[in-house]
Amino acid sequence: MKLSLPEDVQLLSTTRSFLERGTQKLLIAGEWVEALDGLTFPTYNPATGEPLAEVALAGEADVDRAVQAARSAFEAGSWSRLSGEERGSLLWKLSDLLEDHADELAELETLDNGKPLRVTRHGDLPQAVKHLRYYAGLAGKIEGKTIPVSFSNQFVYTLREPMGVVGLIIPWNFPLLMAIWKLAPALAAGNTTILKPAEETPLSALRLGELIQQVGFPEGVVNILTGPGLPTGAAIVSHMGVDKVAFTGSTEVGRQIMKNAALSNLKRVSLELGGKSPNVIFADADLPKAIKGANWAVFSTAGQECVAGSRLFIERPVYDQVLEGLAAEAQRIRVGNGFTPKIHIGPLVSENQLHRVLGYIENGKKSGAQIIAGGERLGDDLAAGYFLSPTIFTHQDDNLPLVQEEIFGPVVAVSAFEDWQELVGRANQTSYGLAAGVWTLDIRKAHRFAQAVRAGTVWINGYGLFDPAAPFGGYKESGFGREMGQEALELYTQTKTVWVGL
Ligand code: ADP
Repeated sequence: MKLSLPEDVQLLSTTRSFLERGTQKLLIAGEWVEALDGLTFPTYNPATGEPLAEVALAGEADVDRAVQAARSAFEAGSWSRLSGEERGSLLWKLSDLLEDHADELAELETLDNGKPLRVTRHGDLPQAVKHLRYYAGLAGKIEGKTIPVSFSNQFVYTLREPMGVVGLIIPWNFPLLMAIWKLAPALAAGNTTILKPAEETPLSALRLGELIQQVGFPEGVVNILTGPGLPTGAAIVSHMGVDKVAFTGSTEVGRQIMKNAALSNLKRVSLELGGKSPNVIFADADLPKAIKGANWAVFSTAGQECVAGSRLFIERPVYDQVLEGLAAEAQRIRVGNGFTPKIHIGPLVSENQLHRVLGYIENGKKSGAQIIAGGERLGDDLAAGYFLSPTIFTHQDDNLPLVQEEIFGPVVAVSAFEDWQELVGRANQTSYGLAAGVWTLDIRKAHRFAQAVRAGTVWINGYGLFDPAAPFGGYKESGFGREMGQEALELYTQTKTVWVGL
């Protein structure tokens, strides 16, 4: 393994030894095993294009083994029939271990995904810890109801029971955090799980698997399968022994998953999909804050975020002023290797993703949108990686692919609006409905906008905030089901109604 790091950067010895151990294996029934057919695939460092590790590629037979393991663990009751308090206590222990290993996990994440070490260490990792603790606390508080019915001789109550075996399929933009977003509520509720990280970023999930073992979760409760959508993801979705699939990723794959779930055993599905979120700056906003906020809303994580505020609407009287501020801010963003101190954003996750985004930029230029900042792949010492400068387009046509399609890169489509009616119509003119932002000091206008926009989350005078207690999920083709908060537990439990003859 060759690892080019910026000058003066040393990896922790634990990170090195993790990377140097040879092919990474699958976690099935508490054992690390090779794929049955021996296949592997490489994962790359997007900052340098260098391969980081070979990883086992789980085929259908491996998925089958993992489902059997999860099923036996579920039936044995060694997890689902523990008290919620006991399950919570293991989740809490895992959160402590994550905290102890935060430096190492952050390094792995930065190597595999590219985002700055400062972000993985002080953003993703603490969020993951908080998330585990929130659901550790909730594990013992999953309650049914007593229901007054019309029969006086019947006593009726409900139980909220785990679904059984759940498949958790996650993307590459927040690899560890997304794993925890799904594992924490699924495990708190008593399910057994099969986690499939994205093929671009499998490493942090594998290290997480080792920590899970160290905590002492019963074997088979968490199985981890690495591999691409086809065959690994698709085999989980079509397996008759999986009771539910929770997915985060593109709308296109979400559609496929819903179809395959229906064609197999009608397994339950929850989907957190794409977005093309409107972010609105009114003339009466705190403009310096709004400009910084709008800039960060789309360019943080190099735009590789489902909630990216990628359609920016600016009220006409302040349009020129805001645009100028935005361009200046975008030029101040330092793009670079995630291990270089003080950089703001890293590379795109893969060569594929880089070319996809460059394709949108070319298409935008040809279709008459004006580019006012960025738009280029970065060269010099960054030439081997997949780096792109933060890109601002202005346009007059909401129908352009640039304005309608999820790009998942550092590209924002900016336009002016004149009045409320126009704004609301245009903000909602998208098949997505994941998130929205609005900047104004008029509290009535802010709340009116929050009510008018069809999106699962609205940020007023802020953007991109998350907390384990605050539900998150989509309207329209951004999916359904809510992550986080008590609502996430509903995704991983089902209601049983019990009638007692008195
Ligand atoms: P992104 O746009 O973030 O790359 P994708 O929707 O392509 O998202 O992938 C998200 C996750 O879904 C990844 O783990 C990927 O391997 C998985 N995946 C891709 N295709 C399928 C499929 N047909 N069935 C199940 N999982 C899939």
